[in-house]
Amino acid sequence: MGRPWVSVDLAKVEENACAIVRLCGQHGISVTGVTKGTCGSPEVGRAMLRGGVASLGESRLENAARLRAAGVEAPLMLLRIPALSRVDEVVQGVDLSLDSELVVLEGLAAAARRRKGVHPVILMVDLGDLREGIWPDDLVPLARAVAKLDGLRVTGLGTNLTCYGGVVPTEEHMQRFVALVDEVERALGQRLAWLSGGSSSALSLIAAGAMPPRVNHVRIGEAILLGRETVRREPWPGTAQDAFQLHAEVVERKRKPSAPGGPRTADAFGRYRQFEDRGLRERALLDVGREDVDVEGLTPLDPGMEVLGASSDYLVVDVTQAEADVRVGDEVAFALSYGALLAAMDSAYVDKRYRGDL
Ligand SMILES: *Cc1c(COP(=O)(O)O)cnc(C)c1O
Repeated sequence: MGRPWVSVDLAKVEENACAIVRLCGQHGISVTGVTKGTCGSPEVGRAMLRGGVASLGESRLENAARLRAAGVEAPLMLLRIPALSRVDEVVQGVDLSLDSELVVLEGLAAAARRRKGVHPVILMVDLGDLREGIWPDDLVPLARAVAKLDGLRVTGLGTNLTCYGGVVPTEEHMQRFVALVDEVERALGQRLAWLSGGSSSALSLIAAGAMPPRVNHVRIGEAILLGRETVRREPWPGTAQDAFQLHAEVVERKRKPSAPGGPRTADAFGRYRQFEDRGLRERALLDVGREDVDVEGLTPLDPGMEVLGASSDYLVVDVTQAEADVRVGDEVAFALSYGALLAAMDSAYVDKRYRGDL
C-alpha cells in the first residue's frame, strides 16, 4: 500500500480508444487522443496509439516534452492557445498548434523561420462557448493575414464547445462551422485539409450521423480516458468507465456525531457548511485530500459509502452503510471525474500504478 495511488488499466484505455476510433472512422473522422487529463502520461499515450488514434493532443508544453522524452514519436498537437512568450517552445516542441491571435501567429511564424521550418496551424473559431477562438465576424480578415505569413501553414479550422460555456454542439453549430470554412477557403483560394469539429461532446452528434461530412477530425480525451461523452456524461457504448481509479487508505475509523459541536466559523478553506444531524455515524478518515484530488469528483465504488468532505490531507467518508467492514489499514477505491483524475495524476503525493503493456 503506502501512498494513495491511481490504478491505470492500459488495456482499457486502448480498448476505449479503439471503440472511439472505430466509430469516428465510420464517419470519415480521424481522432487525436488527448492525454492532458493524465499530465501527458507516455504509458497512456502509447495505449491510445495502440488503440488507433492518429496523433496525440496536449494542452501543456511540459507534457508534450514528457511524451517526446519517453520516445513517443506520434505527431503532437498543442490544444491550448499558446502564450506569446513561448512561441519558440511551441514550434520546437509540437507538430501543430491551435491558435486564435494574430500577434501569436506572427510570433510562431517568426519562430518557425528562425528554425528554417514551417509550423502548421489550425485556426480556432468560437461558435459561442466563449472560451478560445476567433469570433466569426473576424475570421476571414484574420485568416487572410495569417495566410501571408512566411513560416506558417494554415492547415485547417477548428472549434471547441462544452468547455467554458457548456454549449452543447448541434448540427446547426457544425453547419455554421462548415459555412465559415467555405468562406475562408474562398478568401484564401485554398482548400483546408483539417476541419477539427470538437471533443468528447461531439460523439453523440457523430454517432447520430449528424456531423456534416466535411468535418474530418476530433480531439478526444474524456471519452477515451473515462468512457463518457461529455454532454450528459453518460457511459459511451463499447467503452470502460474504470480505466482509472483512486485508492486511499483508512487512517482513522470512529463513531462520531454527524454535526460539529460548539460555536462555528468557516472550515480550513474559508467555507461555511451546513451539517444535517443524522445522529451518530461510522466515519472513516482517508489519507488523501484536497492537495491530491478534486474531492467533489470522487465516487466510492462501494455504493453504501458517502464522501462527506475533505481538508488538505484527509477525506472524510461516512461508512455506516458500507457493504465492506471498513477498518484502519484497509484501502477504499473511488471512480474519478475528469477533474479528479487530472488532479490525482498531477499530485506528487499520489502514486500511479500501470497495469498492461507499458
Ligand atoms: C481538452 C480539449 C479537448 C478534449 O476534450 P475532452 O472533453 O476531454 O474530449 C479537445 N479540444 C481542446 C481544445 C481541448 O482543450
